[in-house]
Amino acid sequence: MTRFNAWNVFKNGLIGQTDWDRQWRDPEPKKEYDVIIVGGGLHGLATAYYLAKNHNIKNIAVVEKGWIGGGNAGRNTTIIRSNYMMPGNHQFYEHSLKLWENLSHELNYNVMFSQRAHISLFHSPAARDAAARRYNIMNLNGTEAELWNLGQLKKNIPHLNYEDARFPIIGAAVQRRAGNARHDSVAWGYARAGDELGVDILQNCEVTGVKRNKGRIEHLETSRGLIKAKKVGFAVAGNTSRLWEMAELGNLPIETHKLQAFVTESIKPLLDQVVVYGVGGAHFYISQTDKGSMVFGGDLDWYKSYAQRGNLPIVQDSAEAAMAILPCLGRIRLIRHWAGVMDMTMDGSFFICKTPIENLYLNAGWNYGGFKASPASGWYFADLIATELPHKYIQHHNLERFEKGINLDERGAGPDPKLHG
Ligand SMILES: Cc1cc2nc3c(=O)[nH]c(=O)nc-3n(C[C@H](O)[C@H](O)[C@H](O)COP(=O)(O)OP(=O)(O)OC[C@H]3O[C@@H](n4cnc5c(N)ncnc54)[C@H](O)[C@@H]3O)c2cc1C
Repeated sequence: MTRFNAWNVFKNGLIGQTDWDRQWRDPEPKKEYDVIIVGGGLHGLATAYYLAKNHNIKNIAVVEKGWIGGGNAGRNTTIIRSNYMMPGNHQFYEHSLKLWENLSHELNYNVMFSQRAHISLFHSPAARDAAARRYNIMNLNGTEAELWNLGQLKKNIPHLNYEDARFPIIGAAVQRRAGNARHDSVAWGYARAGDELGVDILQNCEVTGVKRNKGRIEHLETSRGLIKAKKVGFAVAGNTSRLWEMAELGNLPIETHKLQAFVTESIKPLLDQVVVYGVGGAHFYISQTDKGSMVFGGDLDWYKSYAQRGNLPIVQDSAEAAMAILPCLGRIRLIRHWAGVMDMTMDGSFFICKTPIENLYLNAGWNYGGFKASPASGWYFADLIATELPHKYIQHHNLERFEKGINLDERGAGPDPKLHG
């Protein structure tokens, strides 16, 4: 594989870009693999890469029903942060952020990670107190975190609506190392690096059935034929409950919801940070891409569905939320919006765990925060599949935690999946 470096870019510039290799192969499915990961999103691709890289397993396939990165991987608003406080969650997301910080080098692929800071606005003293608790815990755990008063916020972002916002802005919680990355690049980077280590990436290969024999999966039925597997990992995000049913495992503590994102026409540089706020039920986040578009999103569509499209009331809600803090956006044109399918859990935390089937492993429940988790998710899921033991950071991220009363509810929102943003 031709590496991306200054010399190769220069050389290819001179010879009409003719000396680049194909980024990944398009192999025919083998009859059998040591590990099959179902789902060619970020979590599936990262898992395959770390299985090969960290655990030296070579006979791996990623099975994707469409094209890699065509699910939530390519539909999200790309916010990366590690402002978590619950034991396990904090260490997991901080490790993920550290992996992001070196990911372009690790994969030899520019994932365009931009550490531009994540700014959570406060609109009440109560919100400030709750954030102070979380951000102080982060500091105690070694993750830098700041609380800005109104003066500091105005100095850094002078053009927010400080005058007549319906919910006045009084300060912000800040993580400077947080930011954005380019989602397609992350999928392509993991695919290319995994392929180089021998991972077969099988696109247009939908799993349509799971054939079991005495508590083990024997093979997967796919649109490209039967494929045997010694171990199978599900990393299908919003489709988890469908695959779970195929494996005849009953219900999961997951609800499937839709989340929309919006992108505007390009404008001159306006916002150099990720800005977020939440008041009551409202939730809003916005940033500007390198091309100049404003990318933003809000809350779920508030009803369960597997459809990858959203509804108009949320367009209105999100546009109103944008106007509330950046009224200067009033005449900008919205050019696209779309939806992804979220696997929302009862406590807002994820699952990386074993299942009632001996050789089936589960990676799911990313709510709408799984983009930032992708590197660590792949790292710890690969670790579980290879070693059969959950790492201590994810030891409670299993399906039994609800029976045991283990609390991983970061927001304290209670057992209602749609409240865990
Ligand atoms: C609008 C929106 C905004 C978001 N914003 C953020 C954000 O700012 N920050 C953040 O951290 N997270 C965000 N998220 C969440 C994040 O995108 C997801 O949590 C994450 O992408 C899920 O993991 P994944 O990439 O592996 O999922 P996906 O990309 O959905 O991968 C799952 C794959 O499984 C495949 N699949 C499904 N069924 C089958 C089958 N039967 N056979 C074979 N393949 C199958 C699908 O085609 C899909 O490609 C957002 C999500 C959305 C939709």
